[in-house]
Amino acid sequence: MINFDEFGPEKIFEVYDPKTKMRGVVVIDNTKRGPGKGGIRMTPTVTPEEVAKLARVMTWKCALADLPFGGAKSGIIANDKELSKEQKKAIIEAFAKAIKPVCPSMYVAAPDMNTAEEEMEIFAKANGDMKACTGKPKKLGGIPHELGSTGFGVYHAALVSIKHLGLNVKGLPFSVEGFGNVGSFVAKFLTQDGAKLVAVSDSKGCLYNPKGIDFQKLEKIKSEKGTVTAYPGGKVLPSKELIYLDADLLVTAAIPNIITMGDLSKIKAKLIVEGSNIPMTEDVEEALHKKGVLVTPDFVANAGGVISSYIEYIGGTEKEMFKMVEEKVKKNTKIVLENAQEKKIKPRDAAMELARQRVKKF
Ligand code: NAD
Repeated sequence: MINFDEFGPEKIFEVYDPKTKMRGVVVIDNTKRGPGKGGIRMTPTVTPEEVAKLARVMTWKCALADLPFGGAKSGIIANDKELSKEQKKAIIEAFAKAIKPVCPSMYVAAPDMNTAEEEMEIFAKANGDMKACTGKPKKLGGIPHELGSTGFGVYHAALVSIKHLGLNVKGLPFSVEGFGNVGSFVAKFLTQDGAKLVAVSDSKGCLYNPKGIDFQKLEKIKSEKGTVTAYPGGKVLPSKELIYLDADLLVTAAIPNIITMGDLSKIKAKLIVEGSNIPMTEDVEEALHKKGVLVTPDFVANAGGVISSYIEYIGGTEKEMFKMVEEKVKKNTKIVLENAQEKKIKPRDAAMELARQRVKKF
């Protein structure tokens, strides 16, 4: 069942095209701050309820990032693996045409599960307006996420959080869970600032070296051998062990629910910056807060991606994107951490309070 409250959802509608058998759903949660922003998820099981939950997450994310975007999301019920390239193209085109009355006026799309740059090109062309979606190829004004906008933002959230705790980035031992798009950029920028990378993981395992891991060597090994565990020097452990290692800062940048209640007694970090989405449940965050571990929440720290989407939407440049990511992430992290400290609540609660206020007062 979809929950309705003072924030939305404002519009929910299902679309169908008899020719291609395209079936889709759009949930426009809240447009008070601007058109609802959110990706198109293509899976065989996507439901209006799932789409509505994700649309609400976007309402908070865009409000907290202080962007003139509301929250929305859409879904296409289809099995990506069973479709030919032509069938998938026809379905995306049918979906784009069906939702044109609200897109981009009330809804601006983006990639999500099983939709990427190629699908955004098809979608924007079928819609006839390049503002219909972000995540387009560079030739159509897209700002590729390979530039590292999210990791760059997570890095700035980490810097603000380090300062908030009165720690010094120079020589600070830190670990990074996941060495993909987000994690590798965080590791790069923090090591450039003199922090000491002591542990890093990927799906194959965790590499631990308390003396420090050389970032450039690590990046080369990862691209040549496909895993951080091939780095010469250090101990190789199971991926999950990373979260227990001795590092003042832990950055999550891979899978959901990596930290559970059962892990609490073994966590040594003073600060956890959530680069990935939902690396732990709210209960775990609450328990860590009580234990005195500062947790900078995902939608505060990893807003770089959505900020980059906004720059693409207004036709801005890569330079403008990096500037805005830095400014907004720094400012929002600072406000959230200070409010949390003042009110003696966990940062996620302070962030939610701020997001709600920003939707109500806009
Ligand atoms: P990615 O696919 O580029 O990288 C993921 C990395 O995690 C890979 O190195 C992979 O080997 C590693 N990994 C997989 N399973 C692991 C495990 N069990 N333990 C340790 N490492 C493991 O993904 P990404 O784009 O870097 O995204 C990472 C997280 O950040 C996801 O939760 C994603 O939803 C979130 N996020 C990403 C963006 C973005 O713009 N890329 C924006 C917001 C949030």
